[in-house]
Amino acid sequence: MEKRMLMKSLFFIVLIVLFLFTICIMRTVFLFQNTKIEQCQSSDDDYISDSRGLSKRLSEAIKFKTINVGFHDYDREAIFSFIKFINQSFPVIHSSPIVSSEVVNNLSLLYYIQGRNKNLKPYLLAGHLDVVPVEEVYWEESPFSGLIKDGYIWGRGTIDCKHVVMGILEALEFLLLHGYQPQRSFYVAFGHDEESNGLDGAQQISNLLRSRNVQLEYVLDEGSLVLDNLIPGMSSPIALIGVTEKGSLNLELKVDVTPGHSSMPHKETAIVILSKALSKLEGDVFPSLFGKGPEKEMFEEMGYCANFPLKMIFTNLWLFKPLLIWNMKSPVMSATHRTTTAVTVVKGGTKLNVLPSFAIAQVNLRVHPAQTINEAADYVKNIISDERVNLTIISAHPPHPVSPTNTFGFKMIKKSIRQIYNDSCVVPNTLIANTDTRWYLGLTKAIYRFSLVRITPKETSRFHGHNERISQKNYIEVVNFFLHLIKNSDASPEPVHHHEEL
Ligand SMILES: [Zn+2]
Repeated sequence: MEKRMLMKSLFFIVLIVLFLFTICIMRTVFLFQNTKIEQCQSSDDDYISDSRGLSKRLSEAIKFKTINVGFHDYDREAIFSFIKFINQSFPVIHSSPIVSSEVVNNLSLLYYIQGRNKNLKPYLLAGHLDVVPVEEVYWEESPFSGLIKDGYIWGRGTIDCKHVVMGILEALEFLLLHGYQPQRSFYVAFGHDEESNGLDGAQQISNLLRSRNVQLEYVLDEGSLVLDNLIPGMSSPIALIGVTEKGSLNLELKVDVTPGHSSMPHKETAIVILSKALSKLEGDVFPSLFGKGPEKEMFEEMGYCANFPLKMIFTNLWLFKPLLIWNMKSPVMSATHRTTTAVTVVKGGTKLNVLPSFAIAQVNLRVHPAQTINEAADYVKNIISDERVNLTIISAHPPHPVSPTNTFGFKMIKKSIRQIYNDSCVVPNTLIANTDTRWYLGLTKAIYRFSLVRITPKETSRFHGHNERISQKNYIEVVNFFLHLIKNSDASPEPVHHHEEL
């Protein structure tokens, strides 16, 4: 009897597994590969090659030490000289009757390129003129020499983000030189203090645009990258478009106690109480919010370019989601689907034989877009759950809203990327770092963060790190990406809904 029951249950289990497997296979088989798109060729009429002096001009741009040290603290002279260099390097832009350029708050740049069709909403391409400081001793080549060596342009700013600034200007100069006038108007905005939150630059540009009641079709700023070898087993490069940005929350944890002599210690000193609290903030403290941000769409889109068995996993997240989350453990991957905690500062104690009266720690949280600042702070409070630890918010920036991917802007960015790398897999993601886009949030719902830097996950340490560089080939691709994007953004392939009143 028992044996029959066992056989029966086994039969049902096999049946269920077979059933699930069939669904997975069906879903996988019926997901077609992305349609091929024509890749831009160096023989194309509109291809911008290095014979125009692209590498040389980027290398010159790197030489300006536009270093940003902190809030309102940057090298004004260097930024001013860099602007002068920009004016001289792109004479067609600066004399074109369809371009109006203005300097905002003395050091930021705003261009407006007048399109023919006033019914089309303008878009905005953004970048920044400043760079972060360097620790020159760790560099293999001098960070501000603009050295071109073995196919690479070296220096601070080559991937963050003078390549964007110069790339946009090169594409625009080329187009204007060939008598091009866009249908759709657009703005180009370069803030000068992005590396310290853009208070003096992008914020002022944004205020100006708001005062003029500007509404934008989309914004593209620096951000996510094109990564090779991001997912083992996937051969195509993955182009990540940041559709949102994590928030940032800085907390202070403080323990106050009565001081005393170390010969008669309390059961726990302030430092010990604080340490116990801090130990609870180690590792993956927050739960995974996979699927509440762009994560699900990111993997589903990868399904279009992956091969079996990855394709089966990505197209069947309803079944494989837990397996995928379990696999996303590396610091980079983990940070994409949860709020992270990092204890970065600890202070306490003055002398070996004195019981400290207080101990303080500072914790930096990067908040997932599906969570609010207050929810994150409350979560930390609950985890610590010790009345003796006082928690205060030092500063906070909420996460950005998630921009939709069915917009004109996203589609045009995607198309332009695939014209450069037609085997790439273009997917939405959450940008872990921050950009000037925080100031442009009110101007459109379609905000994207992407630059065409193509590297491996390992090489991302060059951002704000040592030996920052870009290959000449990659930089030429950046320029041509902007050329395609401007052309693609020109006309609306869909009926225009925004200005029906006109
Ligand atoms: Zn940057």
